[in-house]
Amino acid sequence: MTYPTAPPTSQGDERTPGGAILMDGNRLRDEIVSELATTIVAAGSPSVCLATVLVGDDAPSQRYVRNKHLQAAKAGMVSRNEVLPADAGQTRVEQIVSALAADPNVHGILVQSPLPAGYDEEAVLRLIPAVKDVDGLTSESMGRLVRGLPGLVGCTPLGVMRLLERHAVPTRGRRAVVIGRSMLVGLPLSLLLARKGVDATVTIAHSRSVDLVDLCRDADIVVGAVGQPGLITAAHVKPGAAVVDVGISRTEAGIVGDVDFDAVQAVAGHITPMPGGTGPMTIACLLENTLTAARLQGVLPA
Ligand code: NAD
Repeated sequence: MTYPTAPPTSQGDERTPGGAILMDGNRLRDEIVSELATTIVAAGSPSVCLATVLVGDDAPSQRYVRNKHLQAAKAGMVSRNEVLPADAGQTRVEQIVSALAADPNVHGILVQSPLPAGYDEEAVLRLIPAVKDVDGLTSESMGRLVRGLPGLVGCTPLGVMRLLERHAVPTRGRRAVVIGRSMLVGLPLSLLLARKGVDATVTIAHSRSVDLVDLCRDADIVVGAVGQPGLITAAHVKPGAAVVDVGISRTEAGIVGDVDFDAVQAVAGHITPMPGGTGPMTIACLLENTLTAARLQGVLPA
């Protein structure tokens, strides 16, 4: 999807017809993947290995995992995919994850979520050592994030931060509203935005929040991480604000985000497309995390 009707910025960024700068996740993913490949070659091409665990035959999960392996290869990484049937059982899944945790040739472990019904996902996550937790979802990784300690941070929230940084969206002292409070996206993203050095003033909105328009319309940054098509309209957005769409809904018309793109691009200063914004960045940051994990394990210099 392209929106090429306004002249690009001096950095070559596309603008939407309404003049907002398009935060192109595909482009930034390609830049990051190519930087990762350069870093690995410069370190003498050590083997950096990402292992994924896919349980069941959920089509979107299969597609996500395929994409992760494709991009890992482009980054010069080795990848391994453990595929198990939906009825493999908790014990078998835990055995596989424990073996990956103990394998010195595996540097990052990602268990594709959601596991089929009936699995105890928390018990599986507990088996992933923090240094291999490239999804940033274990209690130790989340605890490190809360305490402001170095560690691996969730790929989707990290991807949002990379998009904001790449487009020099100011955060210090600015108001940010994150809609959604999940462990996967909303909560860690709120912590990252409020972190020392990033310094946004963050409001977390959720399903019980009252008057979303009122909460959002003074914000400099609005992030939708809900999964409700068109939740964020032009009325929610202050002129010039940066709007990031994380929500994914599959409709008959294809993938739709939380942001009413056509209306909001006429008001926003920066906006992500959907698809092509935060999705590719999630994969880029998974690979960034895999390289960080390999560094933590001494495979590359720190
Ligand atoms: P979730 O269901 O765990 O969380 C959704 C959040 O939205 C909840 O915190 C809930 O309180 C809030 N919410 C629900 N209805 C709301 C409303 N009307 N107003 C305000 N808040 C409301 O989902 P999740 O795992 O955080 O994922 C959120 C969305 O992001 C989903 O659509 C998911 O598919 C998508 N996602 C995208 C990426 C990506 O790479 N772009 C990655 C992960 C998840």
